[in-house]
Amino acid sequence: MTIGADVVVIGAGAVGAACAYFASAAGLRVHVVERGPIVAGTSSACEGNLLVSDKEAGPELDLARYSREVFTGELAPFARLWEFEHKGGLVVTRTPRGAEALTARAREQRETGIEVTDVVGADLADYEPHLSPAMLAGAYYPEDSQVQPMLLAAHLLRLARERGAIVSTHTEVHGFRRRGDAVNGVRTSRGDIDAAAVINAAGTWAGRVAELAGVAVPVLPRKGFVLVTEPLPPRTIRHKVYDGEYVANVLSSEEGLQTSPVVEGTDAGTVLIGSSRERVGFDRTVSLPVMARMATQAAALFPRLASARIMRSYFGFRPYCPDHLPVIGADPRAPGLWHATGHEGAGIGLSAGTAKALVAALTGAPAAIDLTPFAPERFGDNVIREAAHVG
Ligand SMILES: Cc1cc2nc3c(=O)[nH]c(=O)nc-3n(C[C@H](O)[C@H](O)[C@H](O)COP(=O)(O)OP(=O)(O)OC[C@H]3O[C@@H](n4cnc5c(N)ncnc54)[C@H](O)[C@@H]3O)c2cc1C
Repeated sequence: MTIGADVVVIGAGAVGAACAYFASAAGLRVHVVERGPIVAGTSSACEGNLLVSDKEAGPELDLARYSREVFTGELAPFARLWEFEHKGGLVVTRTPRGAEALTARAREQRETGIEVTDVVGADLADYEPHLSPAMLAGAYYPEDSQVQPMLLAAHLLRLARERGAIVSTHTEVHGFRRRGDAVNGVRTSRGDIDAAAVINAAGTWAGRVAELAGVAVPVLPRKGFVLVTEPLPPRTIRHKVYDGEYVANVLSSEEGLQTSPVVEGTDAGTVLIGSSRERVGFDRTVSLPVMARMATQAAALFPRLASARIMRSYFGFRPYCPDHLPVIGADPRAPGLWHATGHEGAGIGLSAGTAKALVAALTGAPAAIDLTPFAPERFGDNVIREAAHVG
């Protein structure tokens, strides 16, 4: 049996859920197709930071600022549903060279309108009383915020359903309906769905979905662990706190293991410790040495953590593109196919802006942000071999 919709969204993670929300808000008939339960992918294996602090001036920072604007504007009435918190981010360093780098980055970001305060070592304790006294300097970003990613995706899907969207879980897309080069629907494990547009929001698996349509989109897995401590007294850690070297790790394309401490407290008292980055395909091995290294680095930032017990850990696969930019927009190689993927370690924060901008392009509404730097065809067809090899 074939059913019809204006838009099919493949994937019910944070990005697909946001696309469903904004497409249904624009009056489109939406059908979300997810091979697992809702939030089955990386959006349930991450942290929920909405960061401007870790982004260099350029298209990703522009998108992060736009996304923040959408979260704090149009989506503000729902903020409590997904525990939106204006937490603020504190980037710290223990070396004079690190302090110079922090100051230089802050200067560049300030020029683009980001709010950032330079913090001298002696004042760091006012922000974080339990921070190691070995820290020499810091930069404070009041705009850095946080959400609970699974609640975000689940509520966006629920709100879309209230506007008539259909969400089919346990339904895998295994092909596309075509008219010549054009895509006009999907073939799923539960039948075909006709649609004028199909949005590929399949996260780390979006390269494989793109291949089903005969186009190359090089989304690769970049694995990361998170540790969760037992509950500590409330507000032991007040902000998102991370070492300046984290930014270099985010921007690096190395395959080998990288870890740098990223620490944040939660209302429940538990402390989340990230984060590792390694390109090991979809290897699901749990690595104690990686987790031990993360714990040691976190305790160097906050000595109080040395005596905290780790209650649980988890890992996920970030959807990574070789140029560290997401893939957002229409695919001219397969008219009717759109992509919203490849957000690497920032897909929760970038979800709202990505979806709002993509739906504007889809419906011909005025563009609030230039999607050209995120064009799906920018890699050509060469990278498909790397994607297939690594994934
Ligand atoms: C350790 C770690 C920490 C992170 N911390 C942060 C953070 O603090 N802030 C932040 O913004 N981001 C963070 N991220 C990144 C963030 O998790 C991702 O960028 C984001 O979750 C991607 O969302 P998505 O909706 O694109 O993908 P996903 O959530 O993976 O959703 C894709 C969905 O597509 C489905 N799917 C795949 N193939 C098919 C198919 N053929 N048919 C049907 N369905 C299909 C999958 O089952 C999945 O549910 C972190 C990631 C990791 C690993």
